[in-house]
Amino acid sequence: MSVLPRWTVKLRGRQKLLKTAAGKTAFWRARWLKAPADSEERSRAFHMLKAAKGLLVKRRAQVAEAERVVARHSASTEFGGSRAVTDEVIRIVDNRAPVTSRKRAANHALSIGNPSSDHSGLNKLADAVDFGIAEAHALKNEISRKLGGPAQLEDFGTFTTRRNGHSFRVQIIAGTHGTGPHLHVGVKRQ
Ligand SMILES: [Zn+2]
Repeated sequence: MSVLPRWTVKLRGRQKLLKTAAGKTAFWRARWLKAPADSEERSRAFHMLKAAKGLLVKRRAQVAEAERVVARHSASTEFGGSRAVTDEVIRIVDNRAPVTSRKRAANHALSIGNPSSDHSGLNKLADAVDFGIAEAHALKNEISRKLGGPAQLEDFGTFTTRRNGHSFRVQIIAGTHGTGPHLHVGVKRQ
């Protein structure tokens, strides 16, 4: 079975497990709240709740991972597949910062000023995304790690990631540059 159907099944299974874990957490929270103070019952409910919460965190991470795999494999083929990678970056950032720029027309002032930019419409195999967030070095490292790059990526650093049989060069810039404070992620098919 290829990746997409296998992970789609896996995602459904993981979603069910997450639901169960959420139910158990709610159950033990209710028991804990109801139990009389200093009772054996309350102490037991406390430990069960703690374990349930731990499992819930793990289940959430498993669902998130499966969602990313499914999304990656049902991905856009625009810009040589680079759009699929920037789409993935947007899902990783997950509303922690707004998207402030993406692909720009070749005749856009910023494209003319910097024709080699991954944002520029001239570069048909590249895509880029900017987020309105200053000095987001931790987020830079998180994106790198989740795309299969180094856990600590130097600013302006690049790495290669493989998607759907192709290699993509990813560059991430968190420090202030170009058009003011933002987090830049540029992707180009090799
Ligand atoms: Zn940018």
